[in-house]
Amino acid sequence: MIYLGASPQDTPVNYMQTLPTQIPQLREIVAKHWGIRELRPLQEPAMCSVLDGRDSLVVMPTGGGKSLCFQAPAVLRGDTTVVISPLISLMKDQVDGLIASGIAAVQLNSSLTPEERQKAERDIVNGKIRLLFVSPERLVQTDMQDLLRKIDVRTFAIDEAHCISHWGHDFRPEYRQLRLLKTMFPKASVHAYTATATEQVRSDIIQQLGLKDPEILIGNFDRSNLTYRIISRRGGTLKQVLSVIDRHRKEGGIIYCIRRAEVDELTRDLKEAGIKAMPYHAGMTAQERAQTQEAFSEEHCDVVVATVAFGMGIDRSNVRYVLHTAMPKSLEAYQQETGRAGRDGLEAECVLLHSGADVFTWKAIMQKAASEQSQSQFHYQDNDLSYLETAFEHLNMMDRYCRGAACRHSLLVAHFGQTYGKDNCGACDICLGETVEVEGALIIAQKILSCVARLKEKYGIGYVAAVLRGENSQEVKNRGGQSLSTYGLLKEYHVNDIRDWAYQLISQEVLVQENVESYGRVVPILKLNGGSWQVMRGDRTNIRLLKPAERKKGERAKPSKAESGSWDGVDRDLFESMRELRRQLADERKVPPYIIFPDSTLRELARVRPSSLERMRMVSGIGDSKLRDLGQTFLSTIHAHCQESGAAMDQ
Ligand code: ADP
Ligand code: MG
Ligand code: ZN
Repeated sequence: MIYLGASPQDTPVNYMQTLPTQIPQLREIVAKHWGIRELRPLQEPAMCSVLDGRDSLVVMPTGGGKSLCFQAPAVLRGDTTVVISPLISLMKDQVDGLIASGIAAVQLNSSLTPEERQKAERDIVNGKIRLLFVSPERLVQTDMQDLLRKIDVRTFAIDEAHCISHWGHDFRPEYRQLRLLKTMFPKASVHAYTATATEQVRSDIIQQLGLKDPEILIGNFDRSNLTYRIISRRGGTLKQVLSVIDRHRKEGGIIYCIRRAEVDELTRDLKEAGIKAMPYHAGMTAQERAQTQEAFSEEHCDVVVATVAFGMGIDRSNVRYVLHTAMPKSLEAYQQETGRAGRDGLEAECVLLHSGADVFTWKAIMQKAASEQSQSQFHYQDNDLSYLETAFEHLNMMDRYCRGAACRHSLLVAHFGQTYGKDNCGACDICLGETVEVEGALIIAQKILSCVARLKEKYGIGYVAAVLRGENSQEVKNRGGQSLSTYGLLKEYHVNDIRDWAYQLISQEVLVQENVESYGRVVPILKLNGGSWQVMRGDRTNIRLLKPAERKKGERAKPSKAESGSWDGVDRDLFESMRELRRQLADERKVPPYIIFPDSTLRELARVRPSSLERMRMVSGIGDSKLRDLGQTFLSTIHAHCQESGAAMDQ
């Protein structure tokens, strides 16, 4: 692990290998301050590279525990680690969390009053601060650099490091200034953290930051506590949305829509249905958006309906479900957005309502944006339209993922270059047998394709499905559908199934959807290709079609592996009373509830029902400082509950 610089001056002065005594010390610090008694696989090597002053790049999925990798070494080192973070709200959450765990941390940004700022600077100069949070813009200002030189900063942690790369999905021009870090502070080591795993972004981060011989640590990308379900979207999305919310009453959830108007409409509908929902999109004022974000984080609102604009600033760890009302635009986006569920490590559900139309919706949006951009004088030089091709390729991959009949966990992990290694995840719609392959898919495909041929490739999916269903409508009669040999060939199936199958055939490239102008309107028409004829002739037989498995009326989905057991032995009533207590304390202290305790800690408390502070100390997530600060309050609630209900303590 020894770094050999190009010249001796480059070698950090404090450079050394982690001392054998430092690892037990680290563990002690982690247990004392965070109440965490076991490190996750890559956390220890990540911490060692900070202690050793060796540059590093750490890639772990959202919720993987990246912050601890630089926070714990900062406490052990005893000097000041500077953390660069893209959003004030993210910094505030981390600072609040650190202070609650008894660690000195401050942020320097525009939200401070001059007095607060002076006090913060005094504390920094006096060496009291372990973690200092700054924005990238501020870091490069001369007064900030002077301050950092004065205290001889040796460690920089760059959170959300993918923001430096325009290959990533959150590119921020101000992050580009971080290129100067290595020149401004040649003796310091720089550590980059991100959840974005693509090779391109990874090497871009290393290059842009000028990391020297960095330790590269890439974590396991599977989120085993998430259950993925991809369901075909049926008319009346609201009903499907409500059935998901119904499984998660009073729990936190995020619902993603593609368009702002859909966000507004769905929020209205949900409110009418009595659900505490709030909207979030870029068309709202900054103040309105902050309101939604705060209400959600403080648990005064259960559901945020949002466009992708709702993203990085969300740190609420007990999001129990993420629902997409339509397909996101790439697998990266899907991983990132679903990654916001279950950051506390507890079970969470990710439902995607998919339709074959989603790809076309996205393409239309992207094309419009591209043509607007190319007309504007402000477009980036490196932004010629070739990026559209890449974007379309991402869309197609996402679409294939949605239509695939293979394990969702396994394919997602494979996309990030890892192997899953299990045949059945027990936590996705495919492995749970909720989505099944249709028997006789080839014959169904032949019927659909023949119908398109009989209709002379002049109609869209709706009409083709109506003819195959043998509908008796005026439209079918007027256009002579009834006299076709394919009329009513699929009358035993639901119209939604037929539509889904047509889209599935499109994605298997044996059917084509083409936009055609008709009476001044652009309409999508079904066309045949060479593959269609192969299927109709029986020369090609490898056609697969999917449909939801039959479920008896009122029967619920059986719990996935991730879901079952997570509530075992948990005293639900006690959990709810402690949750209420947590919310009150959080309101009083003006911090989000998860800063008090994460859900995982509350569940364990409600399982064990500790009778004393000593017993309570063994619960994961309760460090010394929180035990002192909150222990007695929670203990009283537990005692009162056990007295009233007669439940046994110290389980
Ligand atoms: P990331 O930044 O990678 O998305 P965070 O650093 O915010 O993730 O951590 C997510 C959650 O996991 C936090 O609540 C944190 O306290 C918790 N956590 C981190 N490391 C561990 C661990 N070793 N054991 C249990 N919980 C952990
Ligand atoms: Mg983080
Ligand atoms: Zn699976």
